[in-house]
Amino acid sequence: MRPAAGSLNAVPLDDMVGVAITPALEAETERLLSGRTRDIRFSPEMMRAYRQKDWPQRSKIARAWMVWVALISMMFVPVSLLLAPELLWLTVATSGLIVPALHACAWLVWRKPRSAVVEGLSLVLLMSCVMIAYGFLAAAAGGASYERFLICILYANAIAIVVFNVEYIWSLSLMICAMAIFFGFDVLNPAVSFNEALGTSIFYAIGMYAATIARKTQSILGKKAFLLAVRNRYRSDALKEANHQLEILATRDPLTGLGNRRSATDLIDRLWRNPDIAKASIAFIMADIDRFKQLNDTAGHAAGDDCIKRVAKAIEHSVRMGEDAVFRYGGEEFLVVLTHASPDLAWTIAERIRNTVEALGIVNPGIKRAAGSDDLVTISLGIAFARQGIAPETVAKWADDSLYDAKRNGRNVVFLSNAQAPADDADPAPPVAGRREASARSAG
Ligand code: GH3
Ligand code: MG
Ligand code: MG
Repeated sequence: MRPAAGSLNAVPLDDMVGVAITPALEAETERLLSGRTRDIRFSPEMMRAYRQKDWPQRSKIARAWMVWVALISMMFVPVSLLLAPELLWLTVATSGLIVPALHACAWLVWRKPRSAVVEGLSLVLLMSCVMIAYGFLAAAAGGASYERFLICILYANAIAIVVFNVEYIWSLSLMICAMAIFFGFDVLNPAVSFNEALGTSIFYAIGMYAATIARKTQSILGKKAFLLAVRNRYRSDALKEANHQLEILATRDPLTGLGNRRSATDLIDRLWRNPDIAKASIAFIMADIDRFKQLNDTAGHAAGDDCIKRVAKAIEHSVRMGEDAVFRYGGEEFLVVLTHASPDLAWTIAERIRNTVEALGIVNPGIKRAAGSDDLVTISLGIAFARQGIAPETVAKWADDSLYDAKRNGRNVVFLSNAQAPADDADPAPPVAGRREASARSAG
């Protein structure tokens, strides 16, 4: 029994702080998963949820990149001693200071979640600035190192495109900026003609575009994995809800909302298995509405149902919260299970139930008094105490016997079987057979 879509409007995803699966997200998930993977396009709401979920991973990768590329750039200073020893100071300024400083700025931007525009723009600016800085280094180095430096930094750009999970538009911008800067510097290279610069740039642009497409494919697969996780989540929620509803159906009485006979048996089993509960402190009160059939026959089944519901409420209100449990045991029969109870307490509770039901003032038109006026609905009750070593079925039978005696003795009365519960649980003395006490008030 899955809740209606409208009722499932705020199921938080464990790992999505503040994000809820709304019915709209649920519908979008189903729609996108039923289509082709390559057609997956997120609505702004879904995109927000996805970016929020993906943030920890995205930011970790980006910040790791900032740290490592800054370190690698610094390590380039001693390498440049071999490649271009005459450019030591320029290398120190570019690789050792400017590039690490640019990465430090980007690292600060990626410290907390920002908009997609800020994320994308910060990467494009970072990589473009790095490219330009190395471009100047290349130009200063000249000769064979010119192209070598440019290709090296283009290579870093290609990796950045694959590594950063930003929206496609930003990966594409990253590639276009990198290629434009590459072409700009290559065209300025005195050792390369315009045609050579153009040809080389187009050649590398194709490779860079392939990296952009790889990024796009990876992003779409990431989005699909996200959709599957969302679906998994709301389906398992629905399953949990269905199980919960089944549990209610299996253990609750639908008319009164009380526990049914099966749940009474479950509770009693638990009580009997619990060594910390003295069996002599457990009491069963069996209660049955008097002359209910006559009410049903004269006032109708609906009135009978209504009477059962009101009596159930009255019983619930007459018992102790947390200690006692009320069950609908049969048609118009109820079982109250008391724990930590003395005979006096059980008697008091049973009397309270009897009085409360009578005080409801429900007319039973099936019972005509001598004077001709209608009589009220009443209830008869039988109490029995448990004993160590005695099965619960036996105790239930004693309570039933007491109830039967109450009926025989005029109804609207409490009978207590086995009134003297033994103080010592260790003594499994049998109940005092036949010892019953009539309540102070008798029926009629
Ligand atoms: P007594 O005082 O001896 O208990 O007499 P009684 O008429 O209450 O007892 P009896 O067992 O003869 O009648 C119980 C009636 O309860 C019979 C059945 O039709 C009715 N009943 C059982 N379950 C329901 C129910 O869910 N709704 C209604 N309206 N009636 C029910
Ligand atoms: Mg009855
Ligand atoms: Mg009955």
